[in-house]
Amino acid sequence: MLILKKIKDVENHLKSLVNQGKIIGFVPTMGVLHEGHISLLRKSEAACEVTVCSIFVNPTQFNEKTDYDKYPNTIDKDIEKLNDIGCDILFLPSVKEMYPQGFANEVRIDFGFIAETLEGEHRPGHFNGMAQIVEKLLRVVNPDKLFMGQKDYQQQLIVNELINKRKLKTRLIVCPTTREKDGLAMSSRNIRLDDASRKLAVEISRTLKGAKAAIHHPSSSIFQIQEWGRKRLSDFKDIETEYFEIRNAKTLKPAKSKSENLIVLTAVKIGGVRLIDNMLMS
Ligand code: AMP
Repeated sequence: MLILKKIKDVENHLKSLVNQGKIIGFVPTMGVLHEGHISLLRKSEAACEVTVCSIFVNPTQFNEKTDYDKYPNTIDKDIEKLNDIGCDILFLPSVKEMYPQGFANEVRIDFGFIAETLEGEHRPGHFNGMAQIVEKLLRVVNPDKLFMGQKDYQQQLIVNELINKRKLKTRLIVCPTTREKDGLAMSSRNIRLDDASRKLAVEISRTLKGAKAAIHHPSSSIFQIQEWGRKRLSDFKDIETEYFEIRNAKTLKPAKSKSENLIVLTAVKIGGVRLIDNMLMS
């Protein structure tokens, strides 16, 4: 695997591959690679001739400096994993390489409600920073296909909008959430959970599953299921719920009818670690 740290080097290398007619797949990450990331990379390898992975912990998408400072780093292991699965190129830029002029926000896209609600509300500035770095990365790699996880549901809706609004050639492919055996969605943040918190974290996916099952009961309303989920989580004294919401899967507007395409999304803090998860309900 080629490890490139400079934008120019990635552009030059990819130019010759594109000239040979190769299909380029791209998986952007913040490192601490787990099976969720690997599943995206496998999809890219199956669908594309060249797979590029990036590892970059993007400062502008962290609304809390301590969260950025505490973000784990396992770069040697990550490189090993990428080599093992046959990734072709790792783009590993520095902060200076991606933000040579500092952090002034160049992306001025108004994503509207999908970026204002849920994560947008609880993590001000997060999606601006995320869109800013994804656009920069897409302009460097210019992939045919971009692989992202359903785990970050709002993120992929916004990136889809970014691609449309900027009229980029890239096609976004959204991949299902990879889970631990007990149902916990894999996340780079999970390694920060202590034993007790890790055990408790299973309640997130259990509650989402419960809500998904309940939606099919004719007697239960969306409101009741939402209330049930919130109560179930708040009954665990060490789970602090930020939101537990049933929304329209396309617009993220509060769901009005069970006939809509619905999704249940949640964000909680356990032992100081913020975790998000979601499940499509249909
Ligand atoms: P991150 O490194 O957390 O920024 O994630 C990089 C990419 O991996 C994003 O597209 C995420 O949605 C995706 N991802 C993270 N966790 C999972 C998971 N458990 N299953 C599938 N994809 C995931």
